Amino acid sequence: QAEALMRAEQLAAVGRISAQVAHEVRNPLSSIGLNVELMQDAFAHATFDSPAEAHEAREILGAVTREVDRLTEVTEQYLRMARPPRPSLEPTDVTEVLASVLDFSREELERAGVEVVRELSPANPRALADEGQLRQVFLNLLRNAREAMLDGGRLTITTQAHAREVEVSLRDTGHGMSEAVRAHLFEPFFSTKEDGTGLGLAVCQQILKAHGGELSCQSAPGQGTTFFVRLPRA
Ligand code: ADP
Ligand code: MG
Repeated sequence: QAEALMRAEQLAAVGRISAQVAHEVRNPLSSIGLNVELMQDAFAHATFDSPAEAHEAREILGAVTREVDRLTEVTEQYLRMARPPRPSLEPTDVTEVLASVLDFSREELERAGVEVVRELSPANPRALADEGQLRQVFLNLLRNAREAMLDGGRLTITTQAHAREVEVSLRDTGHGMSEAVRAHLFEPFFSTKEDGTGLGLAVCQQILKAHGGELSCQSAPGQGTTFFVRLPRA
């Protein structure tokens, strides 16, 4: 018990420090991003000695832009983690939010060889939810699913209306998880990926808790993974 408490305090302290760092990094980062954009514009009108040189310049700026985007996303996640905004709850068509997130991610999923199967409730259940935060939850879960299916696979998404809840499940045919991973997966900063932040699921869980909802998981190595999202009905 005391140990658990100490762990929670340590996590909270780590969270505060990383939020501080994220905050310090955010403004200079956004200024770097803007300046890179200006340079890209300038390069579009510049004359180079050779097409190869022009190509190289564009490649370099493209690489910088990608890294800036990645850092921006990570710092945003750190800050969301430390100061979760209170959700503004409205009756929300969960199917519609899912459809829009899937639409947004379609190209990425196609490129990864992930086939999406939708088994949506005809009841079109409405949940009491913050649409923006719910999008964030589905985006994080979709991304994890894609990252678990490196050789492609199938993602089956279901929605179900229960008496008091809307349930969404996302089932992937990826590598699944060992018991040891499952024990830690919702902890902030826990990641098995080389460049993972370990914040995706922690943020999802925090968002769903603030909704009075729930996030749970079923998985075994080589058996794929299913995440269940439960939200109160509107
Ligand atoms: P990150 O994606 O940055 O590693 P997350 O909090 O999103 O952080 O996930 C934590 C860990 O949970 C991942 O590193 C991975 O080991 C495991 N995980 C999450 N989703 C899945 C999934 N769909 N299939 C297999 N493992 C998963
Ligand atoms: Mg993730």
